[in-house]
Amino acid sequence: MNVCVIGTGYVGLVTGTVFADLGNEVICVDKVRKKIDMLKAGKMPIYEPGLREMVRRNVEDGRLTFSTSISKGIRKAKVIFIAVGTPPKANGESDLTAVEAVARDIALHLGDYKIIVNKSTVPVGTGYFVRNVIEKYRKNDVEFDVVSNPEFLKEGSAIADCLYPDRIVIGVPNHHVAMALLELYAPLERPMLITDVESAELIKYASNAFLATKISFINFIANICEKAGADVTLVAKGMGYDSRIGKDFLQAGLGYGGSCFPKDTLSLLCTAKKFREDASLLEAVIDLNEDRVPRFARQITSQLKPVAKKVVGVLGLAFKPNTDDLRDAKSLDLIKELKKKKALVKVYDPVAMNNARKILKNVEFCKNAYEVARGADALVVVTEWNEFKLLNLDKLRQSMRGSLFFDGRNIYSKEKMERAGFQYVCIGKG
Ligand code: NAD
Repeated sequence: MNVCVIGTGYVGLVTGTVFADLGNEVICVDKVRKKIDMLKAGKMPIYEPGLREMVRRNVEDGRLTFSTSISKGIRKAKVIFIAVGTPPKANGESDLTAVEAVARDIALHLGDYKIIVNKSTVPVGTGYFVRNVIEKYRKNDVEFDVVSNPEFLKEGSAIADCLYPDRIVIGVPNHHVAMALLELYAPLERPMLITDVESAELIKYASNAFLATKISFINFIANICEKAGADVTLVAKGMGYDSRIGKDFLQAGLGYGGSCFPKDTLSLLCTAKKFREDASLLEAVIDLNEDRVPRFARQITSQLKPVAKKVVGVLGLAFKPNTDDLRDAKSLDLIKELKKKKALVKVYDPVAMNNARKILKNVEFCKNAYEVARGADALVVVTEWNEFKLLNLDKLRQSMRGSLFFDGRNIYSKEKMERAGFQYVCIGKG
């Protein structure tokens, strides 16, 4: 099938490449020329494990191409995916500027029947909105359909998530369109759910908000554990054995960050308010999450007192392991809090350093965890990269000036850390 993906970011590039790998002819379009030039030169604009090899293979085989031209992109395509960003506006609503711009561009170049698929995460009703924009701006009176096909991939395991999704949700206005999408996804042999457009749009928000709720819930329990002398990892384990609950997303820590959960929970909150529905459940989830870093920062501050001029080493900057994405990363919030108190901050992340250099000012960028530890009064783990789990603790401790170790992701055992001479502080253990 001829496919065009508009927006060549974390979602668009990965899904476009996977569609090509399944034998389709795919053109990925982006308005940022630098990104397209990099891809044409075989360089990846984002870090995602396994992506470079898959892109190279499909480009060499002639199934995957890149362009900045929407008109070129949609000419041959039967199905056009919209995979542009939908960041939050100041009031928390999803900003649909990019989706609207793409819909308008598609309209101007529409020459024959197309299926336009919203893969971006968009509030319920956006399918209808996209349809109206295209009807308003199309130059030729040609037919088209608008479909919702939300994406559930996770950065860091995006290729596997696209190849083996738990489910494929396809929200369609009619049976005919459903068949085309079913054909496209059939080679994956995964569960597919055909719904109306509005339900598909809401499935994405409901899923992310539910996962965010699990995270905030366990963090709420962690707060109680700290006061009550209990251990949240044991509590979570005990809960997770219950098949109705499950063990995933019950890791207490600094809360959820990244480009999806914070914005999607806020957007759903706005949707609920728009429909005048009580959203206090979601408000509590968001409030709990927003207090994670300030709470942890207070713990760091009280142990380091006074913080000014103290050297604090931060291990991990990406919002989660196996990605270079720093959007809404907890590290940025924590570093801001530390710098407010005039700490001297050293940082290291296995892959997010280039992105971090563009954002962070007045911090010392280090080559590895040991360089971060050199002369530090305290170390803080913010992102649970595997390489931090296997550090030589004696070497780390000996190169530090102090002995405080704050584990924001509970990746070490207290006994082991204390044996290595650290004053160890983690989450949810009294
Ligand atoms: P991204 O910022 O990485 O990529 C978006 C791309 O769209 C950028 O390269 C940008 O240059 C391009 N773009 C913007 N306007 C354009 C236009 N008018 N024409 C052509 N290209 C344009 O964003 P992302 O992380 O890939 O997310 C895309 C959407 O998918 C969002 O709605 C997001 O919520 C959703 N989503 C993201 C993830 C994730 O893990 N990142 C997972 C599931 C769903």
